[in-house]
Amino acid sequence: MKRTPAAVLAAALAAVMALALTACGGVGDAANQGGENGTVGIAMPTKSSDRWVADGRNMVKLFKEAGYGTDLQYAEDVVEDQVAQIENMITRGVDALVIAAIDGEALTDVLQMAADSDIPVIAYDRLINGSEHVDYYATFDNFQVGVLQATYIEKTLNLKEEEGPFTIELFGGSPDDNNAYFFYDGAMSVLQPYIDEGKLQVRSGQTEMDRIATMRWSGAKAQSRMDNLLSSHYSSEQLDAVLSPYDGISIGVLSSLKAVGYGTEERPLPVITGQDAELASVKSIIAGEQTQTVFKDTRKLAEVAVDMTDAVLKGEKPEVNDTESYDNGKKVVPAYLLEPVSVDEDNYQEVLIDSGYYSESELS
Ligand code: BGC
Repeated sequence: MKRTPAAVLAAALAAVMALALTACGGVGDAANQGGENGTVGIAMPTKSSDRWVADGRNMVKLFKEAGYGTDLQYAEDVVEDQVAQIENMITRGVDALVIAAIDGEALTDVLQMAADSDIPVIAYDRLINGSEHVDYYATFDNFQVGVLQATYIEKTLNLKEEEGPFTIELFGGSPDDNNAYFFYDGAMSVLQPYIDEGKLQVRSGQTEMDRIATMRWSGAKAQSRMDNLLSSHYSSEQLDAVLSPYDGISIGVLSSLKAVGYGTEERPLPVITGQDAELASVKSIIAGEQTQTVFKDTRKLAEVAVDMTDAVLKGEKPEVNDTESYDNGKKVVPAYLLEPVSVDEDNYQEVLIDSGYYSESELS
């Protein structure tokens, strides 16, 4: 067959591209290419929290069963790295993207690039803001997460019956994560009336999200904020409760409390909430330190995201159960919300072990 100069050039370019891909590590160490139905790029925030590791692992497995290859990348909470990873996935020609954003506002340009290549985008767990190119959103009922944390505090301190007053300090999630505001709003829907009537006292006076947020959900930042709160406001007062939105933050807060002598009979630890049922926190609950966490079954979330992606790629309509709550500034993103579950020492066995999420030996 006689080749035109253009065809020769195209073949040469393809060869150069292939070489370049090999030189930069091909499709990434977590890639599982070659599915008969195509390849899905999965961009996850960080491996520093167990939940995202489990999310990635579960999706790779389920996509494989559904006939898809995957390119799974973690950006270790560096926004620019996540953008570059997604750009690379688009350049390599993935068929769909599933993204758990680090900064929900930082992906507008790269999602435009995806749209220009007709690549559908599923927002995973965290909403992506400021772009109309977000097709669907798979997540948990994020408002309810906050409600569960706050009602746990309400129940443990018996706020409905007791006169109090009780002291509480509040911690918020990362200000660039849309979920953080839903958790906060859910929690405050329960706590605010008690704060207003004086039954709950926030001695620091820090109750607004801009005062209590914890950048990138950092346990170390939460720990140093707790150090300051304790030395400024609780040198002679007992702290009765801490609203923590995430297990990593709870563990940081606990270190700070223990360093000033909490955790003894005379000075018991406050009620401390959390989220994600991370291994360290479940162990802490069993040891009687952290009080509660919110379990979000990442196996189910992965299933929803994989089903959504598969439906979109097959030209079908994915199942959604919320078309109102998640306005990203450009559109209301149709979502599927799963139910979070409150976990403490009384039900961890049933919820986490009997369901096979953790084995007995992992928790001992
Ligand atoms: C997730 C939480 C998680 C937090 C920190 C949020 O977007 O919904 O499950 O605790 O990020 O990783």
